Amino acid sequence: MKNVAILGSTGSIGQQALQVIERHKDKLSVFALSAGRNYHLLREQAFRYNPQILHIDSREFIPLLEKEFPDKEVVSGKEGLSYIGGHPEVDILLVAIPSPVAIKPTITALKSGKRVALAAKEVLVCGGRFVNEVGGELIPVDSEHSAIFQLLKGEDSEIKRIILTASGGPFLETPLERFSEITPHEALQHPTWKMGKKITIDSATLFNKGLEIIEAMWLFKLPPSKIDVVIHPQSIVHSLVEFVDGAIKAHLSLPDMRLPIQYALLYPERLPSLISTLDFSNLTLTFRQLDERRFPSVKLCKSAAERGGTYPAVLCGADEVAVELFLKGKIRFSDIALLVEKTLEKHISKENPSLEDVYQAYEWAKEEVLKETM
Ligand code: NDP
Repeated sequence: MKNVAILGSTGSIGQQALQVIERHKDKLSVFALSAGRNYHLLREQAFRYNPQILHIDSREFIPLLEKEFPDKEVVSGKEGLSYIGGHPEVDILLVAIPSPVAIKPTITALKSGKRVALAAKEVLVCGGRFVNEVGGELIPVDSEHSAIFQLLKGEDSEIKRIILTASGGPFLETPLERFSEITPHEALQHPTWKMGKKITIDSATLFNKGLEIIEAMWLFKLPPSKIDVVIHPQSIVHSLVEFVDGAIKAHLSLPDMRLPIQYALLYPERLPSLISTLDFSNLTLTFRQLDERRFPSVKLCKSAAERGGTYPAVLCGADEVAVELFLKGKIRFSDIALLVEKTLEKHISKENPSLEDVYQAYEWAKEEVLKETM
């Protein structure tokens, strides 16, 4: 029996992870749950899964949780996340908070010899160097990275390149002139995946794919030049690996995050899962080149990755606030990439930044975007 702690249990990944744990309750149990602000759902989850530790970022809910769950430990803030990450009874830490705040608990868990099942790409985008310095057992949950991780199992040969697939989001066919009129409601309609709001908007701008390139660099220790992106609207092929001899391996399944979550939690075991079987009797798979005029975000992300230092943290901070402003109707869809680009241009990175420099650059970028749009 493995004890699982979920950082971000009230989110899309967190809720699906709980379904996976329930499906395999003879092997996995919920030890800790962590939420940002959604007290009501956290409370419901606490009744249903009976964890020993509850974390909530919004401190105003602590007295309510303490009163309702006197038998449980209630913690809060960044220290609470790291406390869970290093807790001796945690075997697996599932990291699903879409923010660099998750870097420290990830590092603490890896240092304490725990498995980290990593969904939050922001951890590697901003803190990849620090995470890789620690080493340990890091299993990706992001579907493309999980696919590549699985494709590389048992392979020692040199990789020519990896190819990340991208659905292209809801605006693959939308005329470019219409991009400035796209509404938050339209951008939140992802054609193949059901996810949290931030990643859904990032999938519409393709910032998500750009961030995934940086995530893949750190996970698979590859330069950006060996990471390509191809548009694959059906989201059935989750990624591909090409080896030096020209052989290409692909990973296929229906788009359902419960599969990569289960893989990371039960690794190396494969057991029946909650996902449906892929029907090949009427299946069309198509691929096409990424149009960088339509989606400038991928180039921006690659450039931030190549420049290194604190540029990726600036990318994360600027994109996060730009997405929030778009969702609030304060900027246009097409402004998201423009604001990120402008913020990256203004930034001067430190060489060999510390983790604190990374956090500062991320916060600086958030403020810059706010100033720019006031
Ligand atoms: P959601 O927005 O749905 O959920 C985010 C979760 O993080 C919520 O539980 C939220 O709590 C919690 N949270 C936010 N800030 C804090 C904090 N300071 N302390 C504790 N908890 C916090 O995101 P997703 O689940 O969609 O995505 C999570 C990560 O996984 C992202 O990095 C995303 O890129 C990645 N990912 C997601 C996929 C998906 O299908 N959803 C697919 C592949 C990767 P609350 O709601 O209570 O405020």
